[in-house]
Amino acid sequence: MRFLPVFLDLQAGPVLLIGAGDPARAKLRLLAAAGARARWYATDGDHDLDGFSADDVARIERLEGDPLAADLTGLIAIVCAGADDIGPAMSARARAAGLPVNVMDDPSHSTFIFPAIVDRGDVVVAVGTGGASPVVARRVREMIEAVLPARIGDLAGFIGRWRKAIHARIPEFSLRRRFWENVVDGPIGALVLAGRKDEAEAALNVICDPSAFAGALLSGQAEGRVTLVGAGPGDPDLLTVKALHALQDADIVFHDELVSPEILDRARRDAARIPVGRRVGKPGIGQHAINALMIRAAKSGQRVVRLKGGDPFVFGRGGEEVEALRKAGVAYSVIPGITAALAAGAQFEVPLTFRNEALRITCLTAHQAKDAEAVDWSVLTDEKMTVVVYMGMTAATAVRAGLLAAGRSPQTPVGVVARVTRPDAQAEVGTLSQLPDLVEKIDGGPALLIIGDVVAHSAPWRQSDLAQLVSYFQEAAE
Ligand code: SAH
Repeated sequence: MRFLPVFLDLQAGPVLLIGAGDPARAKLRLLAAAGARARWYATDGDHDLDGFSADDVARIERLEGDPLAADLTGLIAIVCAGADDIGPAMSARARAAGLPVNVMDDPSHSTFIFPAIVDRGDVVVAVGTGGASPVVARRVREMIEAVLPARIGDLAGFIGRWRKAIHARIPEFSLRRRFWENVVDGPIGALVLAGRKDEAEAALNVICDPSAFAGALLSGQAEGRVTLVGAGPGDPDLLTVKALHALQDADIVFHDELVSPEILDRARRDAARIPVGRRVGKPGIGQHAINALMIRAAKSGQRVVRLKGGDPFVFGRGGEEVEALRKAGVAYSVIPGITAALAAGAQFEVPLTFRNEALRITCLTAHQAKDAEAVDWSVLTDEKMTVVVYMGMTAATAVRAGLLAAGRSPQTPVGVVARVTRPDAQAEVGTLSQLPDLVEKIDGGPALLIIGDVVAHSAPWRQSDLAQLVSYFQEAAE
C-alpha cells in the first residue's frame, strides 16, 4: 500500500487547481461538494462555470497568468487536471513547498490521489487502487453502493449527535462500544435506517436514562464469549459472512498456523492476534494450554475468536475445545468453514461424489506411517468410495500399501493437491501405484491425497496425457 487513505478537511484552506476542460471541471465539482475554496488557472483561458451553483462559483477564484509562478502561501493542496504538460513542473514546486499534490493520471508525480467515492453524508467510503486502475476502483465502488443501506449516513449522524451525552453516562470504553453496537445492530438502528428518526430519538432517550440501562447493560454485558470460526482453506473470499462478522467483532483472535495473513487482516484492526498452533518443526503450546487461554480471556469479558483452518470440526480439535468451554461454563458458538477437501474438489474439478461412480466419501488422517498402519483399510475397499486423506504427505507410501492390501486397483486415479485456493495451489495426478512419486513433486503443504475414480474427472487429469491414464479408461471400459 503506497497511498494511505486519509480524509482531508478541504475547508481549512484554498486548493490550487490547474487545468482545463472536463477533467478540470470534474475536479471543481468535487472540490465544491467538499465545501472547498478553489483558485483556478484555466490553462485554455476558458473559465466558464456553466451548471455550477452561485454558492460554488463564489468559492472559485479565477486566475490568469503563469500557474508555475502562482503564490502558494496558505494553500492546502495542489491539483493538476487536464493541465497538459505542466503537471510534473507543478508537482516539483508543490513538493519543494511541502504541499500535497495530485497530477491526474500520473501517480508518479502525485503525493495524493483521488479515490472513487461512495458519499452517504456522514459515511464516506474511499476506494483506491494506488492509481493503477480507476476503472477497477469504480467497479468496487458500485459493489459497495449496492450493499450499503441508503440511510447509513443518517445513522452515523444520529450517533454523532449522541456521542457526547453517552460518553458522559458510560465512561468505560468497552461498555460504551457495546452500547453503541446494541444501538446500531438493534431496533434503534433499524428505525434510523427505515427513516423513522423521531422514534429512534425517543427510544434512545429512554435507554440512556441511567436508571433504565444501568442494571441490564452493565451486569449482563460484561461476560465474554468464544466463537469457534472456520477460516476455510486459505482464500479470504471463502470466509463465510458470519465468520467475517465474528472477526470484525473480536477482541482477541487465537489462530492456527494454517490461517493465512490475508484472513487475519479481516479481523477488527485492534483485535489481538495470538498464534497458538504447531509451526513446521516446532510444537505448539498444546491443546490444554489453548483451552485455558480461551477460557481465561472469555471470563475476563473478552470476545474471543478461535480461528481454525478449514472447518473447526473436521480434524480441527474443535470438539475438544467445545467440551472444555462447556465444562468451564463459557458461552460459545461455532461457525463452520469450508474444509480443505471441499475446496480442493471445487478448485480442481474433482466431484467428490458422482452418479453411479462415487457414492460415498471417507475423510481420514494419516500423519505418520504408523498412523496409516493403524487405519482399518478393509473398510475402504469399496471402489465407489472417494477417500480423502488429510495430513497424509509423509505417510503416502503407507497409505498406498494399505489401499492396495485392501484390494483397491493400483490403477485407481489419485490426486495430491496442495495449498488449495491459495495463489500457489498445485495438483499432481496419476495412479495409486504412483502416489509416493506424486507427493515427491509437491513443493510443500498443506496438502491432501484424493483417491478414487472421480479424480479422472478433474481438470489436471484431463490436461495430463499420461499413457496409463488412458489405459485406465480402456480397462474400465472392458
Ligand atoms: N480443519 C481443517 C483440517 C486441519 S488438519 C479443514 O477442515 O480443512 C490440517 C490438514 O488439512 C493439512 O495437513 C492438509 O491435509 C489439510 N489442508 C488444510 N488446508 C489445506 C489447503 N489449503 N490445501 C490442501 N490441504 C489443506
